[in-house]
Amino acid sequence: MSQDSLLDRALVRLDEAAGHLSIDPDVIEKLKYARETTKARLMIRMDDGSRKSFLAWRCRYDDTRGPTKGGIRFHPDSTADEVETLAFWMTFKCAVMSLPYGGGKGAVQVDPRKLSKAELERLSRAYIQAFSRIIGADRDIPAPDVYTNSMIMGWMADEYAQIVGQAEPAVITGKPIALGGSLGRNDATARGGYYLVRHLAQDLSLSQTMRVAVQGFGNAGQHIASLLAADGHKIVAVSDSQGGVRCDAGLHVDMLIDAKNAGRSVASTAGQGGHETLPADDLVGVACDLLVPSALESMIHEGNADSIKAKLVLELANGPITPEADAMLAKKGVAVLPDILANAGGVTVSYFEWVQNRQGFYWTVEEVYDRLRTIMEREGRAIWSVSRDKNVTLRTAAYIHALKRLAEAIEAHGTQSFFVS
Ligand code: NAD
Repeated sequence: MSQDSLLDRALVRLDEAAGHLSIDPDVIEKLKYARETTKARLMIRMDDGSRKSFLAWRCRYDDTRGPTKGGIRFHPDSTADEVETLAFWMTFKCAVMSLPYGGGKGAVQVDPRKLSKAELERLSRAYIQAFSRIIGADRDIPAPDVYTNSMIMGWMADEYAQIVGQAEPAVITGKPIALGGSLGRNDATARGGYYLVRHLAQDLSLSQTMRVAVQGFGNAGQHIASLLAADGHKIVAVSDSQGGVRCDAGLHVDMLIDAKNAGRSVASTAGQGGHETLPADDLVGVACDLLVPSALESMIHEGNADSIKAKLVLELANGPITPEADAMLAKKGVAVLPDILANAGGVTVSYFEWVQNRQGFYWTVEEVYDRLRTIMEREGRAIWSVSRDKNVTLRTAAYIHALKRLAEAIEAHGTQSFFVS
């Protein structure tokens, strides 16, 4: 592992939190390394008859608190280091929310936009063939992540059912409703962040009509823009991997979503309805009250953190702020609602889906929203209190909150759990 690996940088947060608690050093040692990371080369037949192979991983970082849980990412830049780091964050996220899960993650190094639908299906099924012995409803439960969606989860659940010879809907979450998916899963990540912001609005001195900038306009970005716009906030800038648009009077969110649904970039709406072109790299520096990173990790760094004008950052993306940029923001007085709390709505409704699959009894969307809101507010409030009591950032408070739960579980397991591999 190189000095600068993403995981090394993520582990800084663990050490920071540990400094505020008196914790057995064995607990920290256990949480510094992934329990198991499996690599495979997926070979699929392309539509033209040729064969092509893709690197893939599945990491089970820590399963002390329950089966490992985490999404599968399809991205050309995915690496084993990234997968392990995302699985580390999942470990803490599940502990923050008190879900009975450990942390996991998976990825395929591929640009899915270059595959046909049939090739994408073969690749998704190949992933499950390669990792069917690792995943399981009581062992490791995948879900969607960047560039994967409910359609892909449906193919994966079907492939798993074929391998084990029976339907096992609880093995994967984020499935289509027709295959046992939960109502409310689709916008759960954004909705969780939205409930959190609404709950802490007074404490954070937020105005009734905030100007909001959203970086990344996929599942998380589109839904947060819709939810906040419906509440009367103005979405003043958005971006995706191809470019961005801005409008101080407020962008037309429906127009942006229509463009994405038609396979175009948000940038293609420039020139309509007052939308103006914005280079994607300029998004973080736009004048706004709330900045919502909803794209990829490390997009707010030493080079652009100083340009941020927002007073609050809601991290819907995982790890969007580097540790250096985080320190700069804290110094500037910018509050950050950290990823392991802010985007935990997704895994929370995934947990609801798993529970519904196991009990074979399905909830209304109102029940899903209500339970999600209760948990977001409960854990958000607890982290807010830790932050005030210990005079630490909300991120450090979230790690302290999660680490306490992890330490308790690791200690309860006894020493044996340190030696299984
Ligand atoms: P997605 O694939 O639906 O969307 C990703 C978006 O990011 C796309 O619009 C893409 O164009 C954009 N993007 C990529 N590179 C960019 C760049 N350089 N500048 C601006 N935009 C760029 O993915 P998603 O599910 O919305 O996930 C986004 C983030 O949220 C990820 O960090 C993911 O791990 C995190 N997250 C997602 C969920 C979930 O349930 N979907 C849950 C928790 C966390």
